[in-house]
Amino acid sequence: MVSYKIIKVKTPDFNMDIKRIKGMNDILPDEAIKWRRIEDICRKVFMGFGYNEIRPPVIEKTELFARSIGESTDIVEKEMYTLTTSKGGHITLRPEATASILRAYIENSLYVQNPVQKFFTIGPMFRHERPQKGRYRQFHQVDVELLGTDSPYADIEIISLLDYLLIQLGIKDITIQINSLGCKECRPVFQKSLLNFLQGVNKELCQDCRRRINTNPLRILDCKVPSCKKILINAPVILDDLCKSCNDHFNRVKDGIGALGIAYKVIPGLVRGLDYYTGIAFEAITDNLGAQNAVGGGGRYNGLIRELGGPDLSGIGFALGIERLLLLTENNRGEDGDVLLPLYLIALGEKARELFFNLSQRLARASIPNGFSFLTKSLKAQMKLADRNNARFALIAGEDELSDGLVILRDMQTKFQKQIPIENLFENIKNEIMEAEVI
Ligand code: ATP
Ligand code: MG
Repeated sequence: MVSYKIIKVKTPDFNMDIKRIKGMNDILPDEAIKWRRIEDICRKVFMGFGYNEIRPPVIEKTELFARSIGESTDIVEKEMYTLTTSKGGHITLRPEATASILRAYIENSLYVQNPVQKFFTIGPMFRHERPQKGRYRQFHQVDVELLGTDSPYADIEIISLLDYLLIQLGIKDITIQINSLGCKECRPVFQKSLLNFLQGVNKELCQDCRRRINTNPLRILDCKVPSCKKILINAPVILDDLCKSCNDHFNRVKDGIGALGIAYKVIPGLVRGLDYYTGIAFEAITDNLGAQNAVGGGGRYNGLIRELGGPDLSGIGFALGIERLLLLTENNRGEDGDVLLPLYLIALGEKARELFFNLSQRLARASIPNGFSFLTKSLKAQMKLADRNNARFALIAGEDELSDGLVILRDMQTKFQKQIPIENLFENIKNEIMEAEVI
């Protein structure tokens, strides 16, 4: 793998007036290496659990998100990037992936042959939030969905997958918090007693919560304002109102993940920011991220596929934020410095440049990463480039060596140099690189 060293230089003042949009980040090459590592581990783990990749578009009809996430959620009320089409319709940059995956599952009749389908996707999401550490307007999620079954085994597998993935990513100090949000039978019973309670404490709640009493009372349980948190300690608990079927399901899932050795904590006040959840809901929480303490979360959504025009099938899934995963892995690894560019080609004079450009292309086509300076530069300047590119070897061709039919291979770590014949140059170099085990 090739490594780029990003070198801090004094930036020339070009008076640039088109900058990136607030909350949307460039992922530069040295960062992209870390992203690729996370994505590669996710892919490997997902494939191991039998999840297949799906890539829905990043823009959908606004209605898809409004109907699934819920009209009176923060996301739909104030965080969506919505555009008006030339015909006056509304389309939205996806704020999350579940709705799109369900739409694709229904629209392409993927449930016909086998209703149980396991998907994952990795990609950008968009929410118009106040940017801060761990919170951006374009961010990225890995997302998994297990559709077509309401078996408790599905819940256990999904939570087990979340737990195992975090272990594989080397992320420590995570607590998996779980709760049950009930179903269409028992949730209304709870909502009624919650509403009763909230009306009693109405005047003491924050302004947002007072508004939510009428729009989305369940969300009040998730309010981060300290005075609300204090009042809500005495709020009724949904677990007390669960129907027998929800209660049995919740117990079987808890037993199942306990049997797998997964540490979890039941948090009766846990609700999620999206309305579609029913039954099990969960979050992966850490103390190492400051205010943004959720690395990921998910849950079951049993009525949603039908709500979106599909068959009466259920599903469960979760999403993790890649930026937050990266913040957590940052102090956790040191292998970046070990990643090297195998070879940097240093040509002096036009004849040598032609020879090395051709060699560079052949090496690239043989998947041997190498560097070649497109600018004519001195030996010293090119050696500096080799160094900056973290090259393991430099191959040097000057006029004198060429006329002797030789080039020089310099080991940038040991400084040892040796002559290599130009005859069969490609094979000779390839062998040297293979022997050094740089790739
Ligand atoms: P939060 O409570 O932090 O706003 P959320 O409940 O809105 O999170 P979800 O919709 O569950 O988040 O998305 C799952 C994960 O996606 C989050 O746990 C987080 O890691 C990530 N995420 C969500 N919003 C953002 C954002 N604006 N910037 C970066 N990551 C985000
Ligand atoms: Mg949020």
